[in-house]
Amino acid sequence: MKSLFYILKPIIPRMLQIFLRRKLVKKQREKYKDIWPILPGSEKKPSAWTGWQDGKKFAFVLTHDVELQGGHDKCKELLELEKKLGFKSSFNFVPERYSVSRELRDFITENGFEVGVHGLNHDGKLFSNKKIFDSRAEKINKYLKEWNAVGFRAPAMHHNLEWINELNIEYDLSTFDTDPFEPQSDGVGTIFPFLVEGNGINNSYVELPYTLVQDFTLFVLIKAKSTDIWKEKLDWVAENGGMVLVNVHPDYINFSKNSNSAEEFNVNIYIEFLEYIKKNYHENYWNPLPKQLANFTKHSIFSKST
Ligand SMILES: [Zn+2]
Repeated sequence: MKSLFYILKPIIPRMLQIFLRRKLVKKQREKYKDIWPILPGSEKKPSAWTGWQDGKKFAFVLTHDVELQGGHDKCKELLELEKKLGFKSSFNFVPERYSVSRELRDFITENGFEVGVHGLNHDGKLFSNKKIFDSRAEKINKYLKEWNAVGFRAPAMHHNLEWINELNIEYDLSTFDTDPFEPQSDGVGTIFPFLVEGNGINNSYVELPYTLVQDFTLFVLIKAKSTDIWKEKLDWVAENGGMVLVNVHPDYINFSKNSNSAEEFNVNIYIEFLEYIKKNYHENYWNPLPKQLANFTKHSIFSKST
């Protein structure tokens, strides 16, 4: 049923897609309860693990994929909210889907936040075959350079870590520890960053899997009214000293007091979650930008193992 759905997806109207995916997720949750949201064994530390920077207990990484113009236009408000609460995050834009304002990119970096690249045009075909990937990789590299960005996330979490090595990046965000609800559902089975070795020509890069379920799955498909699933997983990752990494889309955040559309959740639910971390973990977490985490991983941990 799952693969058939994704074959037919382009011709199914959006609301019907959501309705079908909701039904599917409901059915799958029972089936996958032993491997999601927590995958036993994924808490095992990498062999050369020496701990987080400054002796922090765990890492907390905020990332945002910006899907459409509407999301793009909400980034400033989201950044200001996070900044006020004392957090930093990265914003990944699609270079050829909507117009990515230079002024916004500058605003993000000038505030100590980060800009990354999210695919090329978000049409679901980036990994269709090697030829398509190669020609698009060239364009993606051009945008990485132009935007002074070092991070990438593929649309729909499609991933081929070997191909991704063709991008001039320090890190990739296109995987997850465990998420059976994703179209390409093979998780990497760890709540820690890891190094993807280069092939001799290219440099290696750091893979940063997300470890909290995406906002769309949680609020739109599961229709959760709270962040309990996030909090439970956060507590477990923190206890195991891992990396809490979440992808929140500004597109799905409702900043107004109006009631949410089918694809939105209220901003207060996100604020409450950030406050939960501050209140419960005080000085125990490290909140780096993904590029800082990638740099730390490359130099502090894995250099010691070789
Ligand atoms: Zn996307």
